[in-house]
Order: sequence, then C-alpha cells, then structure tokens
Amino acid sequence: MKRICQLLFLSLLVAGCSSKPEVKYVFYFIGDGMGVNEVIGTNLYNEANGLGTVNFTQFPVLNFITTVSANSLVTDSSAAGTALASGVKINNSVVGVDPDGNPVSNLTEWAHAAGFGTGVATSVGVNHATPASFVAHTDKRSSYEEISNQMIASPVDFMAGSTFLTDRGSGHDAALFEQKADSAGIAVYKGAEAIRGLDLTKERVVCLSGKAEDSLPYAIDRKEDDTQLSDFTEAGIRYLESRYGKKGFFFMVEGGKVDYAGHANDAATCFQEVNDLAKSVDLALAFLKRYPKETLILITADHETGGLMLGSGRYEMHPDLLSGQHASVDAVTEKFREAFFPEDKPFKAPTWDAVKAFFAENLGLWGVAEVSERMEQQLKEVYDRTFGKGGDRNLSESNLYSENYRLVAEMVRSVDRIAGYQWSFGSHSGSPVGLYVIGACAEEFNTVKDNTEIAPLIARLAGYAK
Ligand SMILES: [Zn+2]
Repeated sequence: MKRICQLLFLSLLVAGCSSKPEVKYVFYFIGDGMGVNEVIGTNLYNEANGLGTVNFTQFPVLNFITTVSANSLVTDSSAAGTALASGVKINNSVVGVDPDGNPVSNLTEWAHAAGFGTGVATSVGVNHATPASFVAHTDKRSSYEEISNQMIASPVDFMAGSTFLTDRGSGHDAALFEQKADSAGIAVYKGAEAIRGLDLTKERVVCLSGKAEDSLPYAIDRKEDDTQLSDFTEAGIRYLESRYGKKGFFFMVEGGKVDYAGHANDAATCFQEVNDLAKSVDLALAFLKRYPKETLILITADHETGGLMLGSGRYEMHPDLLSGQHASVDAVTEKFREAFFPEDKPFKAPTWDAVKAFFAENLGLWGVAEVSERMEQQLKEVYDRTFGKGGDRNLSESNLYSENYRLVAEMVRSVDRIAGYQWSFGSHSGSPVGLYVIGACAEEFNTVKDNTEIAPLIARLAGYAK
C-alpha cells in the first residue's frame, strides 16, 4: 500500500517540458533480455507469491520499442546497446562502430562534453556488451581487453561491474586491469563493504565484486556477503550526487542477468532478476522524490531472450507453482552434482525415486507442482539416457553462459511449463520491448517507436553536447 501511494505521488510528477533543457539527472536502466513477457511474467509471479508489483510497470509513461539491428531482425546486446547509447543502428557483435567502420559517439561522451558527471554499472562484467556500448568502440564485443583499455582511458567518472573480463586464451586476469585502472588514477573498490566506504573525493572510481566471478550471483542464489547490483547503484548515486549535484549527471545501470536466465530457460531465476533490477530502480525513485523537477528515470531492455510465452497451451496459468524453486538452474546443477556424484565415493546411479525426491525438494516438482503422467514419462526418458544402461551420466546441455545437466535443465523447464511459462529457445527473439518512464519530461517519450530514438531525445532534454 505504501508503495502504491508512493507511486501515485510520483505519477503526478510528469511535468510538462519546455524547449529549454530541464533534465539534470538521468537514470537509464536496461534489463538485458527483459522482454515484455519477462516483466508481465514477473508481476504474475510476484502476485502469486506474495511479492510486490514491479515498480516501473506503474510508471505514467509505458511504451514499446522495436529492437532490430543494422544487419539482423534479431539483435544482440552490443548492437542494441549501441542503439540505446548512441541512437545508431549497427551490426550485431559490434560495439559503438557503424556499418561503415566509423565510431559513433554516445550518451556518456555527450554528457561529459557538456560538463555532466557520468556513470555505468552492471551486474555482469564491467566491460560486457551493454556498459561497453556506452563507453567503447570496437568491431568485436568479445575484445574484452581492448574494451577495458578504452574504458580506463575514457572520462567516465563511475564504473561498476563484477570484474574486468579478459580475452579468451590471453592468460591475463582481472588483476592486470585493476592495476591499469590504478595507474590511470582510478580508485578501485572491491566488495560491498569497501564500496560502502568509497571516498567521494576520488577523481574516478571503479567498483567490482571482489570475487573471481564473471558476473554477480543470481539474486535467487545470493548469499549474505555477495555484492549486489543495488550496492553499485547506491554507490554510484552517492558518488555522482556528491561530485555533480550542482551540474547534474547521467547514470546507466544494467540488470545483465535477466538475459542469462533467459538463455538458460529458467523463469523463477529470470523473475527474481527483474525484481533485483527494480530494487535499484527504487533507489532512483528515492532520488526523484528529492529532485522531482530535474530527474528523469527510464527503464527499457535491449531485446527479449528465450521467447518466453505466458501460457503453455492450456487456458490457464499457475505462477504460484514456481514457489518450490529457491535456486537457479546453475545452482541446482551444483547441488545435483554434490548429491549424486560425490567425490569421495565410487559412482552409483541413483534410483528414479531418489532423483524425484531431489527435484521435489529443490524445484517443488512432485510436491507443490504436480507432474502429469506424460511429463513424468518424458522426464524418465532423460533419466534413462543419463543413468540407464549405456547412458551418459554427464549428459548435459550448454547455453550461452552456463552448462547444466540435461536432466536438471529439463526439470526446470518442466516446472516452468506446469506454472504456465513456456520457453521457445535459448537465444534472443525479435519481440519489441517496453519503455517505462517517469519524472521530468517523461511524456516526451510517449511517441518513441524504436530503440534509436531514446538517446538523442535524452540528449536534447538534458542539454548534452551531441
Ligand atoms: Zn543474450
């Protein structure tokens, strides 16, 4: 109720906008892979499981945008990230360079040139496609070290992410780039506690998770001492406000792992990632409450991932049946390995009943989520292919970001289907995505139709030097 009142209050703040730039503080949130069904699906899941409504779905401006890239009707994150950052269509897997090979300038460059503070934060690698699109220019998104070098050499004031990703096979690790940042005069903070104590007088700042991980843990798997996206968001706001409170700032925050959960076809994990992004949006809403006439908050996505459908063939959905899942497909794979492949004992194939009991405990299958005879037969077939005579006990499947036991992945897809969520595939779709806007000049975004139209409009409203 409190939150609804707060949002009602905020919805009154869609001030009109004159031709003179009025926006001082811009928050640009990007849910990677966060299609419309991922967002609506999260609200259905939340409602059924006693969680609150996703805050940005109640924003006064709600629009839809197309996402095609220059060379494909289905975009990847770097082409879409560049469209969102620069307003230019480029080819998939390229960062900040147009199809003719020319670098395209972006929002952090325009904001900086006009004297504003700038920040980028993400729950994945600090140099992953989306943050890279707001800072770097390279013809390959996988050129992580080149991107890191460009980010370190850039004027961006605040950067945050799990770690510096390095090139495959280079033999380098993140420490090399932490040193490079340090030599360039950038203060590096690692871990939530260090980040909370960041020195606001530092010229430039990089915040990392402090753990050897390519991305922050999924929200559904999070342990108490894990760094989370809202730690980065909170620190970024505090830092940028303290240094650029007078002039204003631009801050991009990416929820990078909605996409990971989509690639892995894992609905509960995906929805918790959407909720986790909303938690960072809450921090921006608190800022908006303090500066209602000068703050603009946008939430959008680069593309949809997984072809998630609401409904799985019957005229019904039961999002409450996901309530038995308390860990991601990756974490359940780990538990499955520990349970059935103990390192200190010779391998012995588990019985079907033991496997069923495991998934009852970890996903709620054969528990809160009843399994039909037909579905059980299909799952038993995967069990037989894994543990039966002549089976492959390591039978697995890979998605873009992880590898899981086939049996675990099928069980997760099954509980999704029982709850009424059906995945189409493990890659991106060309579906449109939502654009949710609140604050100063929000209504200007009512007419936006494509992902290239957002960046120039922000630049105009905030008076950036484009
Ligand atoms: Zn993706």
